[in-house]
Amino acid sequence: EIMPISERTRAGLGKGSWIRKMFDEGAELKAKYGADKIFDFSLGNPDLEPPAEFITALKNAVNSDELGTHGYMQNPGYMFARAEMAKKVAEEHEVDTKAEDVIMTVGAAGALNVILRTIIDPGDELVVIRPFFAEYSSYADVHGAKLVVADPGPNFSLDAKEVAKVLSPKTAAVLICSPNNPTGRVYSRADIEALAKVMTDHGKKSGRLPYLLVDEPYRDIIYDGLVAPPVLSAYPESIVASSFSKTLSIPGERLGYLAVNPACQEKSLLLSGLTVANRVLGFVNAPALMQRAVSASWRARADVSRYARRRDMMTAILDEAGIKYAKPEGAFYLFIEAPEPKAPLKEGESKDVAFALALKEKGALVVPGSGFGYPGWLRICYCVPEKTIENSRSAFVEGTKAFRA
Ligand code: PLP
Repeated sequence: EIMPISERTRAGLGKGSWIRKMFDEGAELKAKYGADKIFDFSLGNPDLEPPAEFITALKNAVNSDELGTHGYMQNPGYMFARAEMAKKVAEEHEVDTKAEDVIMTVGAAGALNVILRTIIDPGDELVVIRPFFAEYSSYADVHGAKLVVADPGPNFSLDAKEVAKVLSPKTAAVLICSPNNPTGRVYSRADIEALAKVMTDHGKKSGRLPYLLVDEPYRDIIYDGLVAPPVLSAYPESIVASSFSKTLSIPGERLGYLAVNPACQEKSLLLSGLTVANRVLGFVNAPALMQRAVSASWRARADVSRYARRRDMMTAILDEAGIKYAKPEGAFYLFIEAPEPKAPLKEGESKDVAFALALKEKGALVVPGSGFGYPGWLRICYCVPEKTIENSRSAFVEGTKAFRA
């Protein structure tokens, strides 16, 4: 007898896999029916090419004849890269971040895993707000945290009162994402300040001050002149996790960073722990070439007006189909509500899964909200070519007609 994989890996196999499942099925359907018949809105893989400034910086990095550019470095990354990120975080979060407060990571996902590995003991709780990025639940599992889910406020806003309801002496951290995946909501300054107050009061009462973790790979993908408000300045015990996957369209290159609030009480212990976690999780350090390229080009960004156009094209189709949605303020996701079905649901099947299957029948692939802790709704990624959106019109209109009571 062999034990091919561990029990806990086995337990994770079927979980949170809706996004990849739809994406993989999409590839199969495209091979079968032709790519022009399948409209794949499943994965947040930006379709815009990286900005020219990034490509130039990358070429310069490749052409550099400086010795040792492909070697190991200090685990937290190059000092020049950390200094650039410190500038970025200081501007965005209105705090005095220095290079030493930053660790370069393997994407935002790497940053989140490094943070959780550092602050979580088994049985600790990680609070997230639903609907949430499905991978949060996998990351919590990996690090032995119990995922505790708070409800959102009206229109998927951040509601500190809802978070207050689920805080406990075991809460290690509250994790927020703004602009949000999957709703596109941008949290307001007032709501962030209210959350900071709730967490501070909880810390005084319970004797344990939770960390506030800010996952913001979409900070710069934001519409209609909005600016995402600072978070670190509102709450000292906070850490940012971010990346260039979305804003520079380089998710395959795996470059991100984390930054600890310079006002953290135990900053140096925390940074020592984070540095060790980055090493022992096997990342060792973030990709060297990407640190060079991004350090020289991080102020560039994808053309957000093109995502705004895609949003408007997509919402026009949803309006025509009569599908209700939350209008995104940032990121490139639309969260839509499944209509009431005319056919009775199969036992154990939720409305969002049934609607996803009905849309798939017509060639449109979207992800059920069940994977995001929010059954009844679904996520559309509109970071796809405009032609794909245009051509998907009848799939949404006809798919909805066939499904709706
Ligand atoms: N956090 C959120 C909310 C995301 O949507 C994603 C990717 O889709 C990540 C983190 C991971 O980003 P990265 O590719 O930089 O690891």
